[in-house]
Amino acid sequence: MIKRLIDILSNPTSASQIQKEFCIKRKKDIECVITKVQKICKRKGWSLKIKPAICKNCGYTFSKREIKIPTQCPRCKSSWIDEPIFWIERK
Ligand SMILES: [Zn+2]
Repeated sequence: MIKRLIDILSNPTSASQIQKEFCIKRKKDIECVITKVQKICKRKGWSLKIKPAICKNCGYTFSKREIKIPTQCPRCKSSWIDEPIFWIERK
């Protein structure tokens, strides 16, 4: 599964695409699996890039470093969130 995810992440992929592809139910599990990929990338000298989630209501940008799939904006409490996009950059 991790191998296939690494393949998929050669192209920018959203959290929900990953969720669908692998039938993952909980957001926590997606975060967990992406964290695993990030570790593998580090070992190989690749980097996992994150286009952070953005609140569509107030424009709040979530952390770029943290692998998190937010459901609610900490600033305006809106749940209208543009989900994060992940991809792997091979050097
Ligand atoms: Zn907001």
